[in-house]
Amino acid sequence: MTTAKISRRHFSSSLTKSLAAALLLPDRSNRLTATPNSPGFASPAGPIRIDFNENPYGPSPKARAAIESSPKAANRYPDRAADELKAVLAKKHNVTPENIVLGCGSSEILKATDAAFLTPEQNLVAPEPTFEAVLQYARIGQTAGITIPLDAEHRHNLPRMAAACTSKTGIVYVCNPNNPTGTIVTREEMAEFVQKVSPATLILVDEAYFEFAGDPRYGTATELIAAHPNVVVARTFSKIYGMAGLRLGYGIGEKRTIGRIASHLVQDGANAAVLSAALASLDDMENLAITKQKITATRKWLCAELAKDNRSFIPSDANFLMIDVGTDTQPVIDQFRERSILVGRRFPSMPTYLRVTIGTQPEIEAFYSALRQIVPASAAKAA
Ligand code: PLP
Repeated sequence: MTTAKISRRHFSSSLTKSLAAALLLPDRSNRLTATPNSPGFASPAGPIRIDFNENPYGPSPKARAAIESSPKAANRYPDRAADELKAVLAKKHNVTPENIVLGCGSSEILKATDAAFLTPEQNLVAPEPTFEAVLQYARIGQTAGITIPLDAEHRHNLPRMAAACTSKTGIVYVCNPNNPTGTIVTREEMAEFVQKVSPATLILVDEAYFEFAGDPRYGTATELIAAHPNVVVARTFSKIYGMAGLRLGYGIGEKRTIGRIASHLVQDGANAAVLSAALASLDDMENLAITKQKITATRKWLCAELAKDNRSFIPSDANFLMIDVGTDTQPVIDQFRERSILVGRRFPSMPTYLRVTIGTQPEIEAFYSALRQIVPASAAKAA
């Protein structure tokens, strides 16, 4: 399996020849211009991209300014900036810089964790469906993936996942909130789970969508690291920080665990531009709150419209939503593409659920009016 094959593009069956055609389509009436709050970032032209759980509003104004001035640091290796960022992140998470490792997106943290903690004799336990990368990387290392279906509420089935962990399990993966369902594991459930899993198994908690979660029962697994050195948390600057294209993520864990993960990463892999943008973003919590508020408001708007039409969907704590269209999603995805709207890929274990990233309000309004045409409410399964 090549790296190209495990890219997000490969995961998305929607990126086919016809997508290439869609990208080249001439101007369409549903093209959107940037909103006043998001100059240059909200799909100024071309398709509406609500397929990869990106943030349509882009980086914070402070981060954009930092990116613009980053050429000044281009001739220097980025170690100082990396140290500075690790120090800020350590403070934020109440740990030391030795507890933090930076990666090229959290994808690299997932990959390096697999490399550090899996062998062909061990296995990886994960929910199904979830973010596929960790399973794909395990396959590269010839490790078997044991997938445990989500429960009836589309949530992790933690009792079954704990029971599936044996002395042969190198990593158990928890995605919280889960991609693609947007469902959460509560703080209490996570605390119980770590008690059940052997300390010899690494618990990799992917919190890529942490900042979007609004459920008061939700909590970060970073709180568990001090008592459980087998817990590692992955975070990213790709989602709420709006910097998916710049590539920066990080892992938080016990010092030796982090050291093992770091040994599988390229030295000084995070570039100067993204480091300065990340530092600036962390200094702009106001922008983060505004972004969260806008995305949450649009998600609520969409949920209210779906409920009015008696459509079924999975309540989400993330910047995407799974809508049951009552029929196989692939033809629906294709029809959206013909309208220059790119929605999430088909998930084989949830074939009637369409994953929609929460874009800007006009983007989601355009999506919903297209959904009404493609799958009239009467044709979709009622809630
Ligand atoms: N984890 C989850 C749950 C995701 O959904 C994604 C991307 O969509 C990632 C990790 C990887 O993100 P990145 O490598 O951009 O940090």
